[in-house]
Parts: sequence; structure tokens; C-alpha cells
Amino acid sequence: MIIELTTNSKVIPACPICHGIGQKVRKITVEHQVKEGIKVEGEEFYLCKTSQCDVAYFTQGQKTILQEQLIKNPYLHSGYNSSLNTLI
Ligand SMILES: [Zn+2]
Repeated sequence: MIIELTTNSKVIPACPICHGIGQKVRKITVEHQVKEGIKVEGEEFYLCKTSQCDVAYFTQGQKTILQEQLIKNPYLHSGYNSSLNTLI
């Protein structure tokens, strides 16, 4: 009768702006995409999959990296499933 909730630590957090479900990415993937001078802080990074959202990546701590802080990336939000997976 006790529902097992301990696996909830694996639940992927939602984007703090659009509340869409994210996709986990490695920090190094994010570091490779941000413009010079943008700090990449945090442990776990998630990709916001909402194309209209200004957020590109976010952390569990609600920090965000905006689309405008990224080097132009043709893979983001358009066919990244086949292209970006090699980076994850
Ligand atoms: Zn979003």
C-alpha cells in the first residue's frame, strides 16, 4: 500500500519557462554550444524541446541558458534526435 516513490530522483525536470519536458544532456555538450564568456554552471543539464521557448538548456537548479547565448546551432529543435545524439 505504500507507493514506491524513490525512483523519482530519475524524473526529468521541466523547463522553468515553458514547463516542457526536457531531455538530459551532458554538460560538455552544453559547454561546446555556448558563446564565449557564457558560464556553464551546474551538474545536470536538460535540453528544452519547445521550439518557441527562449530557453535552450536548463538545470535542476532552475538556471537557464537561452537560445541567444548559444552559437548558432542548426541541430537544436530541428532534427536533433538524429544529429545531436552523437554528442550526448
Ligand atoms: Zn522551455
